[in-house]
Amino acid sequence: MNDQVSLNVSPDMVHQNLIGGRNVPASDGAMLDVLSPVDGSLFARIASGTAADVDAAVKAARAAFEGAWGKLTATERGRLLMKLAAAVEARVDELGELESRDNGKPLRQAKADVVALARYLEFYGSAADKLHGEVIPYLNTHFIGVERVPHGVTGHIVPWNYPMQIFGRSVGAALAAGNATVVKPAEDASLTILRVAALAREVGFPDGALNIVTGLGRTAGAALAGHPGIDFLSFTGSPETGTAVQTAAARNHVGVTLELGGKSAQVVFDDADLERALPVLVNAIIQNGGQTCSAGSRLLIQRGIFKDVVDAVSERFRALKAGRPDAEPDLGPMINQAQQRRVQGYLDRASQEGLTVTASGGIAADAPKGGYYVAPTFFAPVAHESLLSQEEVFGPVLVATPFEDEAEAIRLANGTPYGLAAGVWTRDAMRSTRVGRAMRVGQVFVNCYGAGGGIELPFGGFGRSGHGREKGFEGLVEFTTTRTIVIAHG
Ligand code: NAD
Repeated sequence: MNDQVSLNVSPDMVHQNLIGGRNVPASDGAMLDVLSPVDGSLFARIASGTAADVDAAVKAARAAFEGAWGKLTATERGRLLMKLAAAVEARVDELGELESRDNGKPLRQAKADVVALARYLEFYGSAADKLHGEVIPYLNTHFIGVERVPHGVTGHIVPWNYPMQIFGRSVGAALAAGNATVVKPAEDASLTILRVAALAREVGFPDGALNIVTGLGRTAGAALAGHPGIDFLSFTGSPETGTAVQTAAARNHVGVTLELGGKSAQVVFDDADLERALPVLVNAIIQNGGQTCSAGSRLLIQRGIFKDVVDAVSERFRALKAGRPDAEPDLGPMINQAQQRRVQGYLDRASQEGLTVTASGGIAADAPKGGYYVAPTFFAPVAHESLLSQEEVFGPVLVATPFEDEAEAIRLANGTPYGLAAGVWTRDAMRSTRVGRAMRVGQVFVNCYGAGGGIELPFGGFGRSGHGREKGFEGLVEFTTTRTIVIAHG
């Protein structure tokens, strides 16, 4: 371990799965090394979950669903979630430091993720007993009730970029709705989820309501996606894996929400308030090192102000620094070496396409040498058809493309296979509404950019960005189905 790094976390942590309320090793005893992206050092070890572990977890969840967990009232489930929210909130520093070390995100961002997790748990905890069904007018001789019921046992496959937030919005909603859950965190960022699951036990969740199987996607993840005992799946990750998960779910005839990637556009009209826009435009791609599904990775700028905006963005990019997370840099390292190489690969291919870098930031001098740092890079102008405009880099790489008028702006913004989020910057209220409503995305921000934020706001994709919705009340409904009861009384 590099001795420059002094985050307050034990270097030899060993973690087991949580199945049926017990910490257990993988069925074959196999472990995975966890390397910290901060310096590449071996930092912890996690169980490399097997299909047998997933099977045991699904059985434990089923037993909880049919037993102690399933017998709780909605209010009681909600109270447990609220208790967990409070336990999480009381540990912002501990969980934030753990996440920062495990995932590499700046400490500030990691702590913000903890607060967001607490808010998700609070939101869904308080909503648990407010999810009402319907009564349908039908024949005068019949009473028709439609109740919202949990799917049963839900599987949750989580990526590494925002583990706590995605756990909160997906598992929090599923538990509030009354499902028993099996979670497969990403192999690169499992530790905070394991810690939160331990807290759930401490606050009194019945055994088996929340099970965690860590390990590789191709083993533990695939076993969960294809397990016949799962009633519903929530997957957040890449479009390629999403296809595999949906295919596996289809074999068992179960539904799945897919929260996938994005290539989100920020559309800047020539009447935009640039002073307000500029810091947001830069942050939307720099936050979490660009490893954000809803990163604003494309700038579409009206031609008359193209040069001015590019110059101003360039100036800000030159001042950006990637660095060790505890020094509160603009961005931390990439999650792992493969991701660092992937981003570098895109930069190399851009240069083969003839693109030259317009502005780039740097890597802080005290960034540990073994860490996976990448300098933020800005290209302008970039053709709409080029690789960098069309593919999700998932790193701190921003491209800018000029447009002439509203029609072209809409065409370009909607002109990728993705459809996750968009930003519209203009002072013209009618135009902001018109253009905002023309965006084929799950969330549109006008004169702001939430980068996917907002516990209360339904979130999800069109096209290659996936389907189904998480967050907000909509996310709670997603983890239920309906039962219609027809009662003849006359
Ligand atoms: P990934 O698809 O490689 O992995 C996601 C999860 O799936 C991990 O837990 C992994 O172990 C598991 N997995 C891998 N192969 C599997 C398989 N064959 N069967 C079942 N599970 C498997 O994605 P990633 O690299 O961890 O995350 C980055 C991607 O996630 C980006 O594309 C990003 O845009 C997307 N993402 C989307 C959202 C959203 O809400 N739309 C949020 C965060 C990340």
